[in-house]
Amino acid sequence: MLRTGISRTLRPVSRISACTYSAAAIPAPNTQPDIHYNKLFINNEWHDAVNKKTFPTINPATGEVICQVAEGDKADVDKAVKAAKGAFRLGSPWRRMDASDRGMLLHRLADCIERDAAYLAVSGSWIRSMSYYAGWADKWEGKTIPIDGDYFCYTRHEPIGVCGQIIPWNFPLLMQAWKLGPALATGNTVVMKVAEQTPLTALYVASLIKEVGFPPGVVNIVPGMGPSAGAAIASHMDVDKVAFTGSTEVGQLIQQTSGASNLKKVTLELGGKSPNIILSDANMDEAVDQANMAIFFNQGQCCCAGSRTYVQESIYNEFVERSVERAKKRVVGDPFNLKTEHGPQVDDEQYQKILSYINSGKHEGAKLLCGGSAAADRGYFIQPTIFGDVQDNMKIAREEIFGPVMQILKFKSVEEVIERANDTKYGLAAAVFTTDINKAQYISNSLRAGTVWINCYNVFGVQAPFGGYKASGTGRELGEYGLENYTEVKTVTIKIPQKNS
Ligand code: ADP
Repeated sequence: MLRTGISRTLRPVSRISACTYSAAAIPAPNTQPDIHYNKLFINNEWHDAVNKKTFPTINPATGEVICQVAEGDKADVDKAVKAAKGAFRLGSPWRRMDASDRGMLLHRLADCIERDAAYLAVSGSWIRSMSYYAGWADKWEGKTIPIDGDYFCYTRHEPIGVCGQIIPWNFPLLMQAWKLGPALATGNTVVMKVAEQTPLTALYVASLIKEVGFPPGVVNIVPGMGPSAGAAIASHMDVDKVAFTGSTEVGQLIQQTSGASNLKKVTLELGGKSPNIILSDANMDEAVDQANMAIFFNQGQCCCAGSRTYVQESIYNEFVERSVERAKKRVVGDPFNLKTEHGPQVDDEQYQKILSYINSGKHEGAKLLCGGSAAADRGYFIQPTIFGDVQDNMKIAREEIFGPVMQILKFKSVEEVIERANDTKYGLAAAVFTTDINKAQYISNSLRAGTVWINCYNVFGVQAPFGGYKASGTGRELGEYGLENYTEVKTVTIKIPQKNS
């Protein structure tokens, strides 16, 4: 959905009116924000790209162009970084703002998103993420430390500075919230590059950032391509930290570029090939349903998708039969229809890539049990697809497909499945389905993954950290852990006089 030039009135927000922030610190809201989807958001203003280039954004359900979006590249990133650096300078309104006022601005942003939730088709998770970090703004405390000698030693948690944030297309609004929340709560400034496939909602949020009164330059949004705008952020000498969510290949590039430029701090949330282990004593109804959701949620476009479903031998046939039945029932269609469970893939590139993985599964001898081809005459729809008799060494069992393709693998013993589940370069998530708590804990402790779900899947809480072992990433997002990625720890030591002079 796209809405332009709409004038609105900020509804009274009890949380804000009841607070004690100083009116000078938070300006009155702009009740008529202007949104320009064909421009970049820098310094709370809308700018054409320096090279005047634009690119089309496409509706994946039809393949049609929705509108043109400004294509930022290095020159625009330079402008945005300059704005973010200016907003971070000592004595700036943002640096002088009380931490509790920063929190209030984030609460206001959450309120505006809630107000516009129907238009943005946003879930409660966005609002909760922002409110959660709003609450942290004045609670992220340092320590006093009993060092030896006559000294008083304490730590301050200070913002890192200009944070480059490069986000993907699979959950554009949520990824924006996960990145902005902790960065702003801790007092950083931001240059965000949104994915070229999904730039619109981030630009809408930019208009709200201005509306609620963040000082100019605190948040800057630059749509553009990865190898130009994204790479310019990773290599920029005035960017102090980069946070990236996307593919492992690009994550490796970003880490290299960051190291080769100014050793900026890096956090990465990357790919996965997550094992979902179903033991013979699992509740079959629950296991079938959750395993279905684990892989098909968001059409498989999910970094933590349960894409290797390991099923114990004695229940294998029943599980496969029921999983196929369930997959065939998924309602495929228009993403704006509330009955739809399964929409299109994001673009033609992903669509073609997934179809080629399906072909590779067929050629390598996996058994195609359902789906396996396009699901509509137009748009990028792919049928929910299941392969059985999958072997660990097949490409579809080793590589991240990022599509609605379930791999079912058979196992005999717990020790065997742990070893096979861990035999991957990734380590983002995993799950176990069993009614035996001892087995559940033993397996969960043995899995090398940042998140393990037991008898559930895809359960996220903004309070709980998320991130990967091995090639699935560096650092954790969400929860208190997420604040560490946006903080420098300063140790201050004061000599204590021994006499009252
Ligand atoms: P996907 O393959 O799923 O699109 P990517 O890792 O390519 O995932 O993209 C995730 C984000 O990283 C997007 O915003 C994209 O534009 C950006 N990106 C892609 N290539 C680069 C790069 N070389 N440097 C920095 N960012 C990049």
